[in-house]
Amino acid sequence: MQRLVIIGGGIIGLATALKAARQKVAREVVLLEKDASTGGHQSSHNSGVLHCGLYYKPGSLKAKLAVEGIREMVAFCGEYRIPHDICGKIVLAVDEPEVVRLRDLEARGTANGLRGLQWLEGSAIREVEPHAAGLAALRVPEEGIVDYSAVMRKMAELILAAGHQIRTNAPALGIRSSGGRQIVSTPQGDIEADFVINCAGLHCDRVARSAGLRPESRIIPFRGDYWKLAPAGSHLVKHLIYPVPDPTLPFLGVHFTRMIGGGIEAGPNAVLAFKREGYRRTDISPRDSWETLTFPGLYRFLKKYPGTTWSELKNSFSKKVFLKNLQRLIPEIRMEHISREGGSGVRAQAIHHDGSLLMDFALEQKPGQIHLLNAPSPGATASLAIATYLLAQMPKPATDK
Ligand SMILES: Cc1cc2nc3c(=O)[nH]c(=O)nc-3n(C[C@H](O)[C@H](O)[C@H](O)COP(=O)(O)OP(=O)(O)OC[C@H]3O[C@@H](n4cnc5c(N)ncnc54)[C@H](O)[C@@H]3O)c2cc1C
Repeated sequence: MQRLVIIGGGIIGLATALKAARQKVAREVVLLEKDASTGGHQSSHNSGVLHCGLYYKPGSLKAKLAVEGIREMVAFCGEYRIPHDICGKIVLAVDEPEVVRLRDLEARGTANGLRGLQWLEGSAIREVEPHAAGLAALRVPEEGIVDYSAVMRKMAELILAAGHQIRTNAPALGIRSSGGRQIVSTPQGDIEADFVINCAGLHCDRVARSAGLRPESRIIPFRGDYWKLAPAGSHLVKHLIYPVPDPTLPFLGVHFTRMIGGGIEAGPNAVLAFKREGYRRTDISPRDSWETLTFPGLYRFLKKYPGTTWSELKNSFSKKVFLKNLQRLIPEIRMEHISREGGSGVRAQAIHHDGSLLMDFALEQKPGQIHLLNAPSPGATASLAIATYLLAQMPKPATDK
């Protein structure tokens, strides 16, 4: 194959370009990024956690690719000396119904092949996290933290060193097929390719529609805000402390994360947002809002989850409410321990027409094209494994050399 074009320079597009270069899938790999630099959205606005596959339905793509992905990501970080730390985490159950759900999570983790899971109660919890209060906890020793921006810088460096291209300020405006070739239009002119892979994150559904696909799902942006723990409160968290998540939602709940660069953050909540790349609570984009508000799936989603939508919104605007949630995990935490300096991220979460949130990674294909249409958490951890999976979906022409 002469040329493979990858749209989107987040961690998944970069991982796919790197793997394509290493597997010699094409003589030329061209990665198109609409912004002036790569990695400026989800991949650098996240919790920085390496997820090992605890939450995901056994047999799902998320389960398979998280388990494979964390091993590959840790090996990649080891090989290139990228800061990471397999510090382990606990998931904390604070009432009886959560204890039951935590047992389900333990069973999922075991089914997904996780190693070293430990059920903790009483003083055993306090030995790991002295300030956490709960009826039970599951310790997950394989999880950790990493600098995903450093991972992306290294991926970009390796792609360029292998003689391939990363073109910035190059938004893909549309894709058309002609005579078995794919033509991607950009403001700098058309680019012809044998194959195109769409990894455009928050814009992946638009890129798919520009290629003539009519996906059943739409990206609905969910913003997550992070709060920083002040130095006076940082002794309260040793590693990672997660709540037991609502199993009907793909979000993991507000957690405490020790960051690889130092400091502790609490977050992210999951608030319906009105701008796909809007990192402030007041950001609104008329185009993004219109696309969200005219999507029938949104109203079916709101009908299914009215309580959650409302409480997440309150959580986002009220420090008091946010603090109350954090106190479920660490009762000693006080108002003066948290500040709004943690930044935020926006998740590219696909919602189906019927109002359900897509729980698994999802892609659609047409001849000459693959479109990744849902790749939220643990997409960063799993990026190298997702890349392998995407490339394996490409047809292998008999004449390929
Ligand atoms: C708040 C939050 C917390 C998270 N926490 C974690 C975590 O701890 N661990 C984990 O594993 N995962 C986490 N995730 C998920 C993870 O960050 C994502 O799964 C992953 O970053 C997705 O990567 P991506 O490359 O698909 O998307 P992105 O990083 O969003 O990259 C997409 C790129 O495509 C570009 N683009 C868009 N449209 C076009 C176009 N038309 N032409 C060219 N370029 C285009 C964008 O500019 C962008 O650079 C979190 C996500 C969020 C938002």
